Amino acid sequence: MFVSPQLPTRHQSAVGVRRRVLALLAIVLALVLCAPMTPALANPTEEKSAVDERVEELQQEHEGLTEELARVVAEMEAAEEKMPDAEDAVSEASDELEEAQRKDEELGARLTSAENAEKDLREEIDEGADQIEDSEKSVVGVARRAYQNSGVTSDVAMLLQMAESDSGMDGLTRVDSAVRSQQRTITRLGERRAANISNQNRLDAIADEISDLKDEAAEVVLAKESAERAARDAKDELDSLISQKDSAAKTIEENQASTAEELEKQKEEQERLADQIREWQEDNGDGNRTLPGDGFLKNPAPGYPITSHYGWRTHPIAGVRRLHSGTDFGVPCGTEVHASADGVVVSSGGAGGYGNRVVISHGKSNGASIATTYNHNTRNLVRAGQSVKQGDAISISGTTGASTGCHLHFEVMQNGSYVNPMDWIS
Ligand SMILES: [Zn+2]
Repeated sequence: MFVSPQLPTRHQSAVGVRRRVLALLAIVLALVLCAPMTPALANPTEEKSAVDERVEELQQEHEGLTEELARVVAEMEAAEEKMPDAEDAVSEASDELEEAQRKDEELGARLTSAENAEKDLREEIDEGADQIEDSEKSVVGVARRAYQNSGVTSDVAMLLQMAESDSGMDGLTRVDSAVRSQQRTITRLGERRAANISNQNRLDAIADEISDLKDEAAEVVLAKESAERAARDAKDELDSLISQKDSAAKTIEENQASTAEELEKQKEEQERLADQIREWQEDNGDGNRTLPGDGFLKNPAPGYPITSHYGWRTHPIAGVRRLHSGTDFGVPCGTEVHASADGVVVSSGGAGGYGNRVVISHGKSNGASIATTYNHNTRNLVRAGQSVKQGDAISISGTTGASTGCHLHFEVMQNGSYVNPMDWIS
């Protein structure tokens, strides 16, 4: 039904009226289709549990990085502590090498000069030998010539004449004197030659000794060279260890910074979702209903022992301290799990580490929005949107998700935050 804004005149054709009616109908239809319908808001609980998990992961990652960083920095510091010793060792080895090289060079110089002296001496000895030979020839020649002139014809006669040198013969006296002079020369040369040979022997021995020392010095140089190389290698290794640890530390710090940033974002998201859950609970869980106070929730697994309380503890899988967000009941797998109170199922399904999870909103209690969660179920018996009564079987217990064995991980959320369930169970 609609009212035309204009009364049709008799000039308007029936077709025209029908066209206007259709157009108006179309507008009304469009308005109806576009009108805001009752908001079917998506339940943010599952989204929040994914964010919760991400926050926990990031926190663990951050803690892990902190530990790793501490370890790497400690290793770097340990390496840096060793550095002065390594540098001293290099400098010591380098000094020792220099000393060995200096000694080797010095012995080399001494050996060269000893060898040169020996060579000179050998030349002198050879020269002396030549001179002796020449002198001997000359003595024999002089004597022979003298005796030939004096009529003595044989060497035997010459020697006889020499023995009787006081004969007063002028020629013989001259000869005698010349021969004696020559003989003195020969004797002198012979003595010098003998001394030289003895000197040469001594020099030989010295050169041998120096040569041995030089060989030893060369060996010491080789040993010191390898010691110096080893010290240098050790220092280089330490250097590269330090720079390796330094860059590892930088990488970890960068990772840590980005983890912290991501963690901050996820925490904000967590808070945003917690607010959203509160709103959702108000909108969907009869926010005006007043429920009894503490203790209005019933034990979801009566008769089973509590195996782990709500609170801080060391996580059995992750091995780090974190909040245990609920109470664990030692329920065997396959046992029915019961709704703690009347309410509306806000989510039911797989939720990461929680495994199969049921979340029930119970509306408000003393002004606070209360929800309960039932985790690690083998399977869930309810679906999102379904109303449940206190004590209804809502799931079959299990060990799905991050769980080490059959149990029920039961949580209570007050205004979107986890609180100790035992404060709420009557
Ligand atoms: Zn638990």
